[in-house]
Amino acid sequence: MTIGNNRPQLPKSLLKKRKMNIIIRVTSCCILFALFLFAIIMWGERIFPMPQYTPKSFVAVQIGCYVIFMTLPFLITGVPVKLIDSSWSGVVSNVDVEDSIGTFYRAFGRPGTYDRQDLILTIKKDNGKVITRSAVSVGERYKLKVSDRPPIPTPGKITDHLNDYKIGDRVYKYYGFKYLYVVPSDEDDKKRCIVCGLNNDKHRDKCLNCYCDLI
Ligand SMILES: [Zn+2]
Repeated sequence: MTIGNNRPQLPKSLLKKRKMNIIIRVTSCCILFALFLFAIIMWGERIFPMPQYTPKSFVAVQIGCYVIFMTLPFLITGVPVKLIDSSWSGVVSNVDVEDSIGTFYRAFGRPGTYDRQDLILTIKKDNGKVITRSAVSVGERYKLKVSDRPPIPTPGKITDHLNDYKIGDRVYKYYGFKYLYVVPSDEDDKKRCIVCGLNNDKHRDKCLNCYCDLI
């Protein structure tokens, strides 16, 4: 099997966007870490009050609390978990639909559930590994401005997406971007935004939903 080396280049604006996302994430993690550390040094005894005549064994509990507290900046900002990603390419070997219950959060963190449908791709990567991955999730909200966010996830039918990826399609994953890209063939009239996942008209330069440059 020949391996396609013609991986489409990312537009400069997307390279910049990716770089900025990483910088913002790492910077906010550092700032939060510094603030949390400062809070422990200044008010540690007040945040985690211990009985007045603390036995020695309680010191371990207190240190444990500090350690858990100091992992919060990493959990909040997703560093490094959300930065572990890679670019790869492969060929779709199967397309399937999976039903599940999705959760989303409304104002003040109130959770809501919805019927979620995912288009599950089985992909044979160029390195030989076979993976399954959700390529389209119906019900998932697109990133709208806070004021425009609907109270329920974006409605949609998975049947509208069954032709988004076909068996035999060569797909490209770019580090830091969620959605897989397929080079549109001559018959295709759509191409996918790798930032928000919207299928745009093939001739568009910018995504109709998030205004990012399209590949
Ligand atoms: Zn987009």
